[in-house]
Amino acid sequence: MVETLSIAVIGAPGVGKTSIIRQFIYNDFSEVYTPTRSRYVYRPSVILNGNMYELKVLDVPPISSFPSSSSQEWLDLRCRGVRNANAYILVYDICCVESFEYVKMIRQQIVEHREGSSSEVPILVVGNKRDLQRQRFMPRRAVSVLVKKTWKCGYVECSAKFNWHVVLLFKELLGIAVARGTRHNHTSIRLQGALQRNRCTIM
Ligand code: GDP
Repeated sequence: MVETLSIAVIGAPGVGKTSIIRQFIYNDFSEVYTPTRSRYVYRPSVILNGNMYELKVLDVPPISSFPSSSSQEWLDLRCRGVRNANAYILVYDICCVESFEYVKMIRQQIVEHREGSSSEVPILVVGNKRDLQRQRFMPRRAVSVLVKKTWKCGYVECSAKFNWHVVLLFKELLGIAVARGTRHNHTSIRLQGALQRNRCTIM
């Protein structure tokens, strides 16, 4: 049976969410900024360590807050599927402190608004636009320590523009999902076998 894993990609407008997803799936990048106005679902299949998985990647348009209840999620079309995602990628722009504040707020709301053990859902914080490194607002190490030690999330920096660390970030996320899935025995995120770092193929 092929396992399905839904991943919600959330972040402030213009941080590069769509660019990351499109690089991952299509090896495609556009300099032209087209704001994401409605929720878009991509369904790539990936092979990890010889096993196939179907991903449901949600490109979430700007939302003012994480939906606090199922009814709020259903009332706002942009949020559909966000509350029950199996994992989250929270993207910020390493040159934009406001986009980091947004990620901080959403992470806090995920932990507060998801119930019980599901609040321990895998979350990967992604610092995009690494190619603009000279304009960053905070050293990489400081952000990484904060996110990993205090927020207990994974942390990766990437450049969607140069397709740098884009596959890696999806592998990182699945790696976290595997570790948590094993610990909590949560069937929807339990992937078979140990992931090997360099084996991830998009079909
Ligand atoms: P979204 O609103 O978060 O989905 O952002 P987009 O993916 O639409 O990207 C917003 C803008 O940032 C576009 O003009 C992209 O070309 C640009 N962009 C995205 N990723 C990068 C990156 O890694 N480096 C640079 N320099 N620009 C990027």
